[in-house]
Amino acid sequence: MTSIVTGGAGFIGSHLCEVLLERGERVICIDNFFTGNKKNVEHLMDNEKFTLIDHDIVDPLSTVECPLAADIIYNLACPASPVHYQHDPVKTVQTNVVGTTNMLELAKARGAIFLQASTSEVYGDPEVHPQPESYVGHVNPLGPRACYDEGKRCAETLCSDYHREYGLTTKIARIFNTYGPRMAENDGRVVSNFILQALRNEPITIYGDGSQTRSFQFVNDLVRGLLLLADHKDFHGPVNIGTQFEMTVKALAEMIIKMTGSKSEIIYGPLPENDPKQRRPDSSLAKEKLGWEEEISVEDGLKQAIEYFKSL
Ligand code: NAD
Ligand code: UDP
Repeated sequence: MTSIVTGGAGFIGSHLCEVLLERGERVICIDNFFTGNKKNVEHLMDNEKFTLIDHDIVDPLSTVECPLAADIIYNLACPASPVHYQHDPVKTVQTNVVGTTNMLELAKARGAIFLQASTSEVYGDPEVHPQPESYVGHVNPLGPRACYDEGKRCAETLCSDYHREYGLTTKIARIFNTYGPRMAENDGRVVSNFILQALRNEPITIYGDGSQTRSFQFVNDLVRGLLLLADHKDFHGPVNIGTQFEMTVKALAEMIIKMTGSKSEIIYGPLPENDPKQRRPDSSLAKEKLGWEEEISVEDGLKQAIEYFKSL
């Protein structure tokens, strides 16, 4: 079995590469290191079944650069933190639309399955709560998050059209907020920001009044879900992969302060435009079709994440 993981040097991608190698698979990791880091996969470099290709998926990948046959492509390449995907929004759209098309072409040429790392952001600022896969979303196509949200929506469209038009097997996982070891120190998302601020006894920066909610999942639970979807014979999604651990951003800040024994105070800043007010997956489809449920509590997951950031 040979798997291609685009974005494999990123936070989630590096965990996925690791587990695929543990299963005995050959893994080709493609990354341009925009938000990823070679350090995330350094420990895999000695494994002869692991290949790292420095490549931007917006450029087509030739058979010279990627000579091996592949059975499945996991398409994770895309900055995921609002700070990074809004840094060069045109590039974010290109990565999701042109980059995904290039990787779908690669899958077509190799006869490979294509699994798209989609996102709960396809639901935008949801008016339905919790969000089932049937909800078509509430996204502002002109706002600062649109490069990511609409880019990911179009990537889903491309997956369904490559299936309809060319018969390609495409699978879609809608990933909800995920955290854990190997999130970059400059990632900018809430869990890594709060842990780093707490460990440094710096002010914890809540955007808005902290009443907005997210549902947090530990990266190991997510990777297990992605593999269950990849391995399933005839279920293609889209399927939500996310936990029921919904909490306000303020409650998260208080929990992290308590768990780290930090002296940090909480400060409040402006809420970013179009910031979703609430988010929790309806994960009954994942349970029914994949037998997937979260296994790691927020407390246990945060403990591991805190240990990781302490070790840096
Ligand atoms: P990340 O930023 O750590 O990883 C993204 C990786 O993609 C990085 O290694 C980056 O260098 C690489 N990349 C970006 N643009 C590229 C390009 N044009 N060509 C090649 N490589 C490129 O983020 P992550 O949290 O690991 O997210 C991975 C995937 O999962 C993303 O597609 C993201 O949209 C999706 N996702 C993540 C979450 C989450 O909470 N972490 C939630 C929903 C969806
Ligand atoms: N957030 C915050 N402080 C931070 C970083 C994020 O209050 O330092 C808020 C952000 O406004 C949002 C929530 O935390 O309401 C989750 O943000 P994140 O960037 O982690 O993910 P997303 O908004 O994409 O779900």
